[in-house]
Amino acid sequence: MDQLPVFMDIRGRRVLIAGGGVQAARKADLLLRAGAKLTVVAGELGEELARLAVDGNFVHKEGALRSGDLESCVLAFGCADAATNRSLYEMARSAGVMVNISDSAAECDFIMPAVVDRTPLLIAISSGGASPLLVRSLKARFESTVPAAFGRLAEFAGRHRDRIKALLPDAVRRRRFWEKVVSGPVAEYLFSGQEESAETLLDELLQHASADTDADPPGEVYLVGTGPGDPDLLTFRALRLMQQADVVLYDRLIGDGILNLVRRDAERVYVGKRPREHVVSQAEIGQMMIRLAKAGKRVLRLKGGDPFIFGRGGEEIAALSEHGIAFQVIPGVTAAAGCGAYAGIPLTHRDHAQSCVFVTGHEKNGQPGLNWEGLIQPRQTVVVYMGVASLAAITEGFISHGADPRTPAAVIENGTSPEQRVITGTLADLPRRSAQARVKSPALIIIGSVVTLRARLSWFAHDSG
Ligand code: SAH
Repeated sequence: MDQLPVFMDIRGRRVLIAGGGVQAARKADLLLRAGAKLTVVAGELGEELARLAVDGNFVHKEGALRSGDLESCVLAFGCADAATNRSLYEMARSAGVMVNISDSAAECDFIMPAVVDRTPLLIAISSGGASPLLVRSLKARFESTVPAAFGRLAEFAGRHRDRIKALLPDAVRRRRFWEKVVSGPVAEYLFSGQEESAETLLDELLQHASADTDADPPGEVYLVGTGPGDPDLLTFRALRLMQQADVVLYDRLIGDGILNLVRRDAERVYVGKRPREHVVSQAEIGQMMIRLAKAGKRVLRLKGGDPFIFGRGGEEIAALSEHGIAFQVIPGVTAAAGCGAYAGIPLTHRDHAQSCVFVTGHEKNGQPGLNWEGLIQPRQTVVVYMGVASLAAITEGFISHGADPRTPAAVIENGTSPEQRVITGTLADLPRRSAQARVKSPALIIIGSVVTLRARLSWFAHDSG
């Protein structure tokens, strides 16, 4: 992060603006709305500022900036000519006042974000100066998708906060209660202006929630497929559950881009392979989930791709139902679908393939152990997961069981991520090409004439190879 976002309480605090034009007026408007005690130093006030000044909202000091002007100010804004801005900047620096000079990033201790105002709910957006256009378009999006009534909901929540805290001292229980309130019928009442019904329903819910304080609220397990890497490929449901989990269990295949979307104060447990340590087994992970869920936690188990496609998700949750623990399974974009799309290789195509099979290349006793006859079929695409280590054995197997050595084939490394690489060739030369390119896991093998379509269909900007 290049900046720390904070929301300042400047009610009754002194703030100075140098300049009387449009930029000064915009800042003055926000500052006055936030309750600042504002002084504007300017030879003349422009139209907008003059309009704001009518009710004596701020002090207008005519003439030049003087050294005492910054006294007891918390913030200063330079929206004047270059010379005035320069001297304001220097004065502020020596007085230790945080300063913001318009259109001069180097002279800004802080920046003013774009604001979507649903007081008490505020959304502040900034690109750190990188793209004002992007900020504007995001702001427009929020303006149209965050209903004005969200302010009412936030205000309502604020009003009841202390009472609810007293009645529900347990933090976990309280958070669940709030979740029910903000995403259930109470919120709906508020959105439609039925304040009284909202109050009544809240009381009912509260009575109910505080009555059975003995029973630990039961936990739950979410087995969530996160897709092959690009966080944009998460489903809405995955994201929602990621935002409400108490504990997250993850492994090596889950990138930071996705982990960063998990609720910030959720506990993070790494259950992947560690160097020189034993691998946490599927059964152990299952036991861990049972223990956590029994303690009332909402447990999020993240799985690369889809949890039920070579994800061993089934094994991990098998024991849950025996223990009466509720769980949900959320599908994800599996590597074959993600890599195919991002590499421009359709897995089926009317002119090339009418079927597509997914197999694992993971070796048992040093052999891929594949059903060659089933795989070597006309008009069929074969996708091999976990196959890079045994790529040569796999392509040799194909060829020795009768496949044409010229059959097109590709390896996709780190599919859908900015590091994606695609190596194409044939069954005969793919192992050599892949070794030359030093392809590493995670990588996926696609075999079949659909691979040739990539020449026309590749589109992903980061794609290389
Ligand atoms: N459940 C996962 C697969 C887990 S097995 C899914 O549905 O996608 C792990 C294998 O998936 C890896 O060895 C690799 O073959 C493949 N894989 C997963 N993510 C990948 C990615 N981003 N790029 C290429 N292959 C990937």
